[in-house]
Order: sequence, then structure tokens, then C-alpha cells
Amino acid sequence: MDPTKPVLVTGATGYIASWIVRYLLEDGHVVRGTVRDPDKPTGLEHLHALAAEHEGRLTLHRADLLDEGAYAEAMAGCELVIHTASPFLLGKVRDPERQLVKPALEGTRNVLGSVDATPSVKRVVLTSSVVAIQGDNVDMVGRGPFTEADWNTTSSLDHQPYPYSKTVAEQAAWEICRAQDRWDLVTIHPGLVLGPALTTASKSGSMTTMKAFIDGSLAGGAPDLRFGLVDVRDVARAHLLAGFTPEAHDRYITSAGSTSMLGIGRILRKRFGHSYPFPVLKMPKPLFKLVAPVAGYTREFVEKNVGYPLEFDNSRSVRELGLTYRAMEDTIADQFQQMIDDGITHQPLGRRRR
Ligand code: NAP
Repeated sequence: MDPTKPVLVTGATGYIASWIVRYLLEDGHVVRGTVRDPDKPTGLEHLHALAAEHEGRLTLHRADLLDEGAYAEAMAGCELVIHTASPFLLGKVRDPERQLVKPALEGTRNVLGSVDATPSVKRVVLTSSVVAIQGDNVDMVGRGPFTEADWNTTSSLDHQPYPYSKTVAEQAAWEICRAQDRWDLVTIHPGLVLGPALTTASKSGSMTTMKAFIDGSLAGGAPDLRFGLVDVRDVARAHLLAGFTPEAHDRYITSAGSTSMLGIGRILRKRFGHSYPFPVLKMPKPLFKLVAPVAGYTREFVEKNVGYPLEFDNSRSVRELGLTYRAMEDTIADQFQQMIDDGITHQPLGRRRR
């Protein structure tokens, strides 16, 4: 990989991609970021600031996942393509085929179609997810931690459509990669990504997850729903390591450990006190099942996910990429502090800004 060649980052506006762009620039690379609308008046401020700070090394290019060939021009001359663009929506999605699966799957085929047609490209790093590895937490029963050898075989358009969208998109990526031998593919599989954001414009499920800790929606109790968690800065670094480590190959789980909304609540209470509506009580599974549809979950989801353990083995990312993980406590506290600083949450009485 020639480090002087430009690196293409798709979906550069995103929560994760913004950190990838920043780290690439700080490491001295030239970056081409694709965005759906490079002329939009808001949401790009952080990228414009990075472009000004790293003069002449960040350009923004218009591209939509569903617009065939849209990535070709920005990709010309790049050896590394980091494909992050894909919708991450939690809760009730009205039209999962149109809102999730189509952009994930067709978008991946579109980007990799251009990779096939761009002779300079040597490696693609794709942002997949742990949800392409594991579908429902009940799958954990009777087995050890999930590894890169596992695939999600239980999600569908009707049940867990976001995990389904990530699974079919990654499967398509491997299929396209295996049909040629000029470029290789490395996939990154983050757990739920939290930590400070470079932009307040992202609609990522990561943002909605943290907002639930301030809007009071968990005050009456949180379900015992476990998930892998990782810092956005570590996930971004993993993409760079996957791109520039010659031996990197195949799939990498990136998850610092497992927790739950109650676990996050405990960390927040320890760091920020009792003035916020952090969850204290575990919501009984039958009660959550009853109210689930209002909260955007199906009863099948509750049945198969609440009350089960969940563990991921991240050792391959440590061993082969040399990735180090921040403590979950710091990830969560740093994001919440940023929400206070950005005015997304109120400042409780008697508390001074740090
Ligand atoms: P995000 O902030 O919402 O970023 C998603 C990006 O995808 C945005 O830049 C968005 O562009 C772009 N995008 C969506 N639809 C598009 C379309 N039709 N055409 C072009 N671009 C489109 O979410 P994120 O959390 O950073 O997620 C980034 C990637 O990480 C996704 O692949 C997601 O599945 C994966 N991931 C996320 C997590 C997590 O916890 N956040 C965990 C595992 C994997 P616009 O700005 O134009 O909307």
C-alpha cells in the first residue's frame, strides 16, 4: 500500500467515518470523502474544519449508494477504499427493505463494482458489524464467545432487519471479492459504538442509544439486554490498521466487552451522580414484552434477546491488528460529558462544567 496515494472513505459524514477521516489526515494521508450532498449548509462543518486544518488533503465528493457508478470518479487512483456508508437505524423501521437492506446491499455492490473497475485499488476495508456474526442473544446458549468464524443465520427482513442488512451486504462483498484476485477485503465488526462524536448531525443508532439516558425513557427500568460495546475512536483506528497492515485479512471483531443499558446506567451514575434519569431498575421481561411494540421492538425480539448473556472474542483484533481498547467506563463518560458540553442534556443544579 503506497501511503501517499489518496484513501477513499464512503459516508464521510458519519459518526464512525468522521473519526476515520480525522485519523487518516492526522497520519498524513490524502483523503477523498464521499457524501450524499456536499453542498448542504449543515452537517458538514466538522469536515470543512478538518479540510482547513489539513490544507489540500481532504476533498468531498458527491455519491449516493443507490446511484450506480457514483463512486468511480472519487475512487480513481486510490489503493485503499474504506466503505462505511450504510444506514444504522434502531427501533421501528417502517420500510426495512427500502430504508436498510437496499442501501446496504445494493450500495455495497455499487461501491465494489467500481472497485472492480478501478485498477489502482488493492484493498477494501468494509464496516460490517457484530450483528453479521450473531443474530439473537439466545444463540449464545450452550456455547462460548462468538468469533469471526460465526455468521448470523437467523435475521430476516421481518425479524432483525438491520442485522439482516449487514449480513447480506457483507456476504455480497465476500462473493464479489472472491470472484477476482487483484484486491483483497478486510471486514471490521464493531459492537455498539459509543464515545464522543465529531458531529452532532449523525442519525446513527449510537446517538439515539445515548439520548435514551437523558430523555427519561429508561427511568422506569431498562430491560436486561446485553450487547458488545466499543469506543468510536478504537473502531476508527481499527479501520486504519486493517487498511495499512499488510497481513490483515478476513474478519475482525472489534468489541471492548459486553454490557447492558443497566450497566451503562451504573457507569453514568458513578461518574455523573443521581441528577439524571439513569436507569436503576431492571424491567421484568414479561413487562418489556408487553410494552415492546410501543418502544419499537417486536415481542419475538424480546423473547430471543432479553435475559441472555452475550460475549464476543476480540483477541484476533488485538493479536493481528495490534488494536488496543479503551475502558468502557471512559467511552461512556466521554460521550456523556460531550452531550453536556454540547447542550444536548441539561447541566444538573450545582454541577460545574469541567
Ligand atoms: P451514521 O453516522 O448514520 O453514518 C452512516 C453514513 O452512511 C452516513 O455518512 C450517511 O450519509 C451514509 N449513508 C446512508 N445512506 C446512504 C445512501 N443512500 N447513500 C450514501 N450514503 C448513505 O452511522 P455510523 O454509526 O457511523 O455507521 C457507519 C457504519 O458503521 C455503518 O455501516 C454501520 O452499519 C456500521 N456500524 C455501526 C455501529 C454503531 O454502533 N454505530 C456498529 C456496527 C457497525 P448521510 O450523511 O448523507 O446521511
